[in-house]
Formats: sequence, C-alpha cells, structure tokens
Amino acid sequence: MARAPRIVVLPGDGIGPEIVAAARRLLEALGEFELDERSIGGASIDAHGVALTGEILDACRASDAVLLGAVGGPRWDTTTPDAPRPEQGLLGLRKGMGLYANLRPVRPSPALVASSPLREERIAGTDLLVVRELTGGIYFGDSGRAGDTAHDTCEYSEGEIERIASTAFEAARRRAESSGRAARVTSVDKANVLETSRLWREVVSRVAPDYPDVELEHLLVDNAAMQLVSRPADFDVIVTENLFGDILSDEAAMLTGSLGMLPSASLGAKGEPGLFEPVHGSAPDIAGQGIANPLATFLSAAMMLRHGFDRPGDAARVEAAVDAVLERGLRTPDLLRGTLAPPPLAGNPVPEVEVGTEEMTDAVLAALFA
Ligand code: NAD
Repeated sequence: MARAPRIVVLPGDGIGPEIVAAARRLLEALGEFELDERSIGGASIDAHGVALTGEILDACRASDAVLLGAVGGPRWDTTTPDAPRPEQGLLGLRKGMGLYANLRPVRPSPALVASSPLREERIAGTDLLVVRELTGGIYFGDSGRAGDTAHDTCEYSEGEIERIASTAFEAARRRAESSGRAARVTSVDKANVLETSRLWREVVSRVAPDYPDVELEHLLVDNAAMQLVSRPADFDVIVTENLFGDILSDEAAMLTGSLGMLPSASLGAKGEPGLFEPVHGSAPDIAGQGIANPLATFLSAAMMLRHGFDRPGDAARVEAAVDAVLERGLRTPDLLRGTLAPPPLAGNPVPEVEVGTEEMTDAVLAALFA
C-alpha cells in the first residue's frame, strides 16, 4: 500500500492554531494523512528566536504538502531593524520551497452572493482562479536611488514565464475536468508598452499549443481590471506577472466580500510540495475566543487535495460541504450583518444562525458524510 501523504502543519499565531486545529479534524475525517505539526512566525520566534528554523524548512521541503494558518500579531511588532519578525517565516518558506506560482480561486458561495460589493446578477456564477507569478518581475529586480531619481527594474526570463504559463494551463485543464466547463486561460500583460510584457505574451502563446483543449486569450492589464468587476463570471483562469497579479488578485478577492472565505495555494515545480493557506491574517482581535471562521482554511485544504494530492473528488466534496452549511444559514460572526459582510438579501428565507469555530467544523464534517 502507498504510504500516507505527509503534511507539515504550521498553525502560526493568533487564530492560526484554532483554524488549523479545525482543519486537522477535517483532514483526519477525510482519510489517511500523516500530520507533522511545527511552529512558524511569532510562535517560532518565542520558541527558537527565529521565525522559521532550518530544520522546519527542511521538514516542509521533505513533505508532500504544507498547511499554514497565519502569522503575526502585535506581540511581535517591533521597530528594531534587526529583531526577528513573524512574516520572515512566510517569506523564508516561499523562497526555501521555490514557490513561484500563487493560486487564488474566487468562487462566492451561492449563500453569500449578497456579501459581494457587486450586484447579485453581476457576481452570480463567478468561479475564477488567479494565477500570479510570485518570484520574478519588478519586486525582485534591481532597484536604487541616484540623486533625486529612483528606479525599480522589471525582468523576466523565458523560463520563468514558461513555467507559470504551464501552471495556469494545467490548472485550467484540471478545473474543466471537474466542472465540465470549457477551459480558458486569460493572460494579462501590458504588451502595448512593456518589453517584458511582449516577451510574456510571446512565451505564453508558445506554450499554449501544448494544451489544445484550453483556449487562450490576451488582455491588457487596465482592461482586465475593468472586466473583473464588470463581467467576473466570464473569467476562468487568469495568469499574470507578479506586480499585476498582486493588484488583480486582491481586486478579485474582494468580489466575494468575505475575507474569512478565501483560500490560496503557492506551488513550485511539478512534484514538489506546495503551501496551502487562507488569505486572511492572524486576526489577533478575535484570537482565543472560539469564533474564528475556519472555512478559508477548509477551502485551502481542498486546494491541497486538488493541487497537491490530485484528489479532485475529495476537494469538491469539501467545497460542497462548505456551501451546504452556508445554505443552511450557519454563520461565524464575521459572516453576519455589520461585520465583514453586508446584510443578506432581503427576503432570504433561511434564517442565519450564529456559530463558533467548533460548531461550524462539526457542521462541515456532518455535511461531508451526509
Ligand atoms: P487580518 O486578516 O488578520 O484581520 C482583518 C479583519 O478580519 C479582523 O477584524 C479579523 O478579526 C477579521 N478576520 C480575518 N480572518 C478571520 C477569520 N478567519 N474569521 C473571522 N474573522 C477574521 O488582517 P490584519 O488585522 O491586517 O493583520 C493581523 C495580523 O496578521 C498582522 O500581524 C499581519 O501582519 C498578519 N497577517 C498575516 C498574514 C498571513 O499569515 N498570511 C496575512 C495578512 C496579515
């Protein structure tokens, strides 16, 4: 029998341990996984003096996948330049694991479409994935100052573009297999102005014929920013470079209006372990109260099943279980009126029921086996 997949679990700080404990229950219910819990961020600074130890990074590299809660909190906020900072743990992990692709799905749960800042008819049916290049471009190019001038350099090599394009085409193919929809990749650039964008367009177009089942379109980034809010349901997979992806993925994320619902995956080379984590932070304002919303972490675990373990059926089951509990009106406080989400649609026949982390987890587990 094949060995159980090994998952390094990094709860981190604030609500991290609460939402990760909930996700552990979900994974344990789903099957045989070997879970290896380690510290990162502020918790690691307290225990080891650094936000990520070499030993824990090695354990992550040797694993099949890494599940992370969140890092940071006022306890470790400091203005001392040399003091260790929790977010160094995350950066060290991304760099040390060679994670060059960041994937953020945006799929408002039908029961929460009223939480979107967009009108319901615009947002309904939205199910898209932003694939952002994470380790190249202007954030990593040469920068500096001379006199009264500053510069930041954007550079991309063909190899860097090829590998992220392949990640996007593969993801589109996988999504189409499980949804039955036609696969489409929208590559976003600024090819009318930037040389790196012209290379980007050239290389993405060159990779496309390897995926004849996936349609490719190119869009300029300014146009993409507009289309994302005017016709979000028309997108499937969006692939773009680091800076554009940083901005567009946040724009796309806010289409759902619920921070506590957004998962993400960071992937490296094929066959290497990925990092799966909710988009939100450690929410120190509600830590320890038992009211953190675990759903973004559950949906991150679903991404791990789909992208890390090639178990799309289990991933879809988790997503359906999350939708089902929301349809029944269960809400952690962040999903209720007046907090992170606007009021539900008038006339919504299902009354909302306020629950904590544990009750929400119990309900998702029950729905999983219903
Ligand atoms: P945050 O995402 O932690 O919180 C923003 C607001 O959303 C808060 O009101 C919080 O209570 C609420 N919220 C977030 N996630 C929630 C959940 N699952 N359930 C219920 N409510 C939730 O952002 P912030 O307040 O700007 O940052 C807090 C700390 O988190 C900082 O130290 C920051 O550096 C860190 N941070 C970490 C990550 C990460 O680990 N990936 C990302 C962002 C921020």
